[in-house]
Amino acid sequence: MPTIIDIQNLTKRYNGLTALDDLSLSVDEGAVVGFIGPNGAGKTTTMRVLTTLLQPTSGSAWVAGHEVTREPQAVRRAIGYMPDFFGVYEDMKVWEYLDFFAACYDTPAAARPGMIDDLLALVDLGHKKETFVEELSRGMKQRLCLARTLTHDPQVLILDEPASGLDPRARIEMRELLRELKHMGKTIFFSSHILSEVADICTSIAILEAGQLVAYGDMEEMKRKLRAHRLVQVRVLGSLAPLQEFLLRRPDVHSIAAAPEADLPRDAVRFDFSGDDDALSALLAALISQGIPVLSFSEETGDLEDVFLQATRGIVR
Ligand code: ADP
Repeated sequence: MPTIIDIQNLTKRYNGLTALDDLSLSVDEGAVVGFIGPNGAGKTTTMRVLTTLLQPTSGSAWVAGHEVTREPQAVRRAIGYMPDFFGVYEDMKVWEYLDFFAACYDTPAAARPGMIDDLLALVDLGHKKETFVEELSRGMKQRLCLARTLTHDPQVLILDEPASGLDPRARIEMRELLRELKHMGKTIFFSSHILSEVADICTSIAILEAGQLVAYGDMEEMKRKLRAHRLVQVRVLGSLAPLQEFLLRRPDVHSIAAAPEADLPRDAVRFDFSGDDDALSALLAALISQGIPVLSFSEETGDLEDVFLQATRGIVR
């Protein structure tokens, strides 16, 4: 896949503060990249450079083959940007709002009504066409804002915390919408401070901390690595010895720990399992067929972010 966003050695300093520190990152066409990091990590700064709104201190970035400081107009044509605040056009009706932005991008007047209907259908706001923007719920406003970024049919969407401030239902709706845009072939680069919320729609994840890229990887590869690091806890009735002896003979079981180690209850054993779901299920069946009195058998879900960082250590690009 060709590269559509290419960031090379980008640094941004605000007075004494280094907000971006030699950031390099490239994104393939059609990718959905979750740009993750705590508040203040530099996500908005990166997005503002990519969208030509902010001049970097040093380094370069290209979007759809155009350098952001040298060809800002071409970059703006290629991207749709949703900032982390909504804007101030609230005394407009929903359709007027989209009409205004379409006009800004020189969409001919005759083409606008059809396009607006299509966009409203996409973001599920067809029934709100004549409503004033200020009367929309927060989730609806976010979806309208996303529709606005699509009026010039850009290849790349740069979305700053599109799900922030939304209730759980509105978050799901936003996620579904991103999924639909992905199917339409858009490249999506969006930020969030919560990895687990975006993991299921991303094709890759980039983690930013204090202006530096600390991890960047393909999501499927990450999930495979996460599965290779699964931790399993088994509790049994009576003595732990038969269980431990059984586990010691298994090549897919490693690092067996039992109480009083590792904060485990007295009847529990924890181990690292390197097999897949089928192997894990077979392991449980084998324990039971050996007559080991299993009380519970469960996989511990670690903090996705920690595991992700562990799994990507050493492959930061
Ligand atoms: P994020 O989007 O990850 O929360 P930002 O890019 O907004 O991070 O901010 C990165 C750092 O740069 C923060 O420490 C922030 O306070 C600082 N910063 C952002 N914008 C400005 C500005 N205009 N002037 C001075 N400092 C800024």
